[in-house]
Amino acid sequence: MERLLEVHDLKVNFNVRGGVVQAVRGVNFHINKGEAVAIVGESGCGKSVTAQSLMRLIPSPPANLSGKILFNGEDLLKKTDKEMEAVRGKDIGMIFQDPMTSLNPTLTIGTQIIEGLLKHEKLSKAKAHKRAIEMLKLVGIPNPESRVDQYPHQFSGGMRQRAMIAISLACNPALLIADEPTTALDVTIQAQIMQVMKDLQKKMGTSIVLITHDLGVVADVCDRVIVMYAGKVVETGTKFEIFNNPQHPYTRGLLRSVPRLDQKKDEPLIPIHGTPPDLFSPPKGCSFCARCDEAMRVCVDNDPDLVIAEEGMEHEGHRAACWMLHPYAKGEVRS
Ligand code: SF4
Ligand code: MG
Repeated sequence: MERLLEVHDLKVNFNVRGGVVQAVRGVNFHINKGEAVAIVGESGCGKSVTAQSLMRLIPSPPANLSGKILFNGEDLLKKTDKEMEAVRGKDIGMIFQDPMTSLNPTLTIGTQIIEGLLKHEKLSKAKAHKRAIEMLKLVGIPNPESRVDQYPHQFSGGMRQRAMIAISLACNPALLIADEPTTALDVTIQAQIMQVMKDLQKKMGTSIVLITHDLGVVADVCDRVIVMYAGKVVETGTKFEIFNNPQHPYTRGLLRSVPRLDQKKDEPLIPIHGTPPDLFSPPKGCSFCARCDEAMRVCVDNDPDLVIAEEGMEHEGHRAACWMLHPYAKGEVRS
């Protein structure tokens, strides 16, 4: 499979008064062309910061970004602000949790779709307007011919998110980053929006990075899953590997804490006890140690690397960062 995006050792530090918050601590992953990948984890795990770094939306300084973000082989971290302007919207589109904050309330939906088209593609106004209507149709907005001239406040929450998808996909970007795109919507609308994204991904061949805390939405749209905890990737694999054979205690905890379709009636949801570590001073050993029921002595002072958990079907490899997968850790006395 052809790689679209490769992230190598991404670190994002925020300088705050009195020290440094290590929001992203050496993250590695890749996205293949046409693939949908979810980045999953609790709030504060670094998933949104990672997503925003891909778009270079994190102002640095004050933040400090290091590592490599290769998009079609070019390092986005090395691009000038002006070069990034050209990438945003054209090559990489983004949709956020609350479309109301990212839509401009003073412009019609049509104008906002056209803006990108006029900026990135040399289309005439009439052609761009036609394309705006097509895009609204594609995301399932009824009466797109009249809707195109309406303002965001005239759209319902679900419709606004559809409009946002239309805006982000108008220039047919190779990558769409969706950060909690359905969190603010009710469950039925969530499912519809996910379906829209899935259909468009197939139709347009777009790669998707879906950022979510909700493993439920992952099952519908994604091919692969990256689980983040405390600024690091702790497990990665295909959707099937993660759901059917989770290896990291944190992933297992996440799966136990969300309702599933095949949930048995009397099977309780179990929240993960405790809270994530303070990334102002992350622990020396495994970041999950304080919350982990399987913690061993080795976990306290030594941070495990991502290692192969089982050979992947598509050679991507199912990996997890847990000492239990390490041959040397066998026979360790539990603390
Ligand atoms: Fe738990 Fe140790 Fe594995 Fe961390 S490395 S998840 S503390 S068993
Ligand atoms: Mg977030």
